Amino acid sequence: MSKKKTVIFGGSFNPVHCGHVALAAEVCRAGLATEVWLMVSPHNPLKDECGLAPEQQRLEMVKMAVDGLPGLVACDFEFSLQRPSYTVNTLARLEEEYPDREFILLIGADNWENFGRWYKNEEILSRYRIIVYPRGGEDVPQLPSGVVWFNAPLHNVSSTMVRDAVAAGEDISPLVPPGVAEYIKDNGLYKN
Ligand code: ATP
Repeated sequence: MSKKKTVIFGGSFNPVHCGHVALAAEVCRAGLATEVWLMVSPHNPLKDECGLAPEQQRLEMVKMAVDGLPGLVACDFEFSLQRPSYTVNTLARLEEEYPDREFILLIGADNWENFGRWYKNEEILSRYRIIVYPRGGEDVPQLPSGVVWFNAPLHNVSSTMVRDAVAAGEDISPLVPPGVAEYIKDNGLYKN
């Protein structure tokens, strides 16, 4: 039986926004995956991450964002791994846990530019397929086999934009999925 194609889309999701959801949905719609897992990165104890909302709250918001959207899944898998978890280790643990799935990495062209510096990047390349999507402006890079370019439409929104708008007291509801603006307000997130 063929394995279920499962795309891993990792990020801080601080908070999740409409650009994240649109990209994940587009990956599913294009048939690149059966499921896209939005994998929330946990707090890194080695980093001073000021302004980073607690991981459980970031996960809650991702759960709201994917609610009712077929194929999109909120994932807290890294919360239970040693921190920080390198991508190569996370993927290996995912494979152990879910032998019926093929894991595929989804990364932006900005991250692809630095991929050569990732821990055990050659092992990642030899064991997993990678989907690279544009982050704006860059030329389509030459890609090794196993790495594909996915020309997803760009949405001009970032988590920084959302946090700045909250701090400025602006309405963020057009930038975030339903429920997320209320959650941020009710929990007093990103006020400064
Ligand atoms: P921040 O503004 O805090 O840096 P971000 O909006 O880039 O956050 P992350 O949680 O870092 O959000 O995002 C996870 C991944 O989502 C990143 O690899 C990033 O490339 C991608 N991403 C961010 N914004 C968009 C967008 N508008 N469209 C598609 N992908 C996006």
